[in-house]
Amino acid sequence: MKDNNIFNTTPITKIRPTIEFFLGADTEHDKTIECGVLEKTLETAKQLGFVDENGKSKVDRVFMYNPDAIGLWIYQEYKDLFKPLENITQVREDILTVYPPVTPVCFGSMYTGMKPENHGILKYEKPVLQVNTIFDFLPSVGKKVAIVCTQGDSIAEIFKGRKVDYFIYPTIDRCNKKAEELIIADNHDLIVLYNGNYDYYMHRFTPKGRKSINELRKNIDTYCALYELIKENWKQHRTFMAFAPDHGCHRSIFPPGNHGKNIPKDMNTVHFYTFI
Ligand SMILES: [Zn+2]
Repeated sequence: MKDNNIFNTTPITKIRPTIEFFLGADTEHDKTIECGVLEKTLETAKQLGFVDENGKSKVDRVFMYNPDAIGLWIYQEYKDLFKPLENITQVREDILTVYPPVTPVCFGSMYTGMKPENHGILKYEKPVLQVNTIFDFLPSVGKKVAIVCTQGDSIAEIFKGRKVDYFIYPTIDRCNKKAEELIIADNHDLIVLYNGNYDYYMHRFTPKGRKSINELRKNIDTYCALYELIKENWKQHRTFMAFAPDHGCHRSIFPPGNHGKNIPKDMNTVHFYTFI
């Protein structure tokens, strides 16, 4: 097992510029972007022909799957479980999230490209973000975006009021069903799907509890099933698909699982990216 005392170095703020680069929309907003695209992912995209010799992206669809609270250390301890996911993944990025590693702060940074002090959510609270986000920028350059999220959860709350299509439901099953419908309908350039089930169980039954790991398995299965659906339905597109959690977690006394500390278990997460 890897040393659990080392922090990852690739910041979560690179996700937004990477998505915008792939969708060919990475202009005129240098001020909002702090650190450029994910280099390893860009290199892989070039090798696979998803970026041409002039450095221009050929990708025209992005699907972001956002499971909650899956840390790098969980991947390292349950590698066998991740096999089906790794089989359909061309690049893994070990991501450092932002502090405090709690859901609205981290997704705030993922989709603004900004550090918490710049996007304004500094603790566990879910105000509507007042800064420019990917959900402002992409519609402003004519891209169609869908957010699919369970009611009351961070992504449903902090990105309200944008010119995107919101699909907010009480259950994860309905969210995932809607994501499938959206893939088949093929109307959006970017689809974001949030699944908070592992986080929910991890808090109650510890990160490695049987019930929690069962939910982790569901997240992996969901990604693999959506991959198959995209492969089948988006043949005319070039797609960048991501398994992209917000932060990790650790075992604690009460609640039995938690996150929010400046420790590698909470701050290190792991992303898997697929080019289809
Ligand atoms: Zn979270």
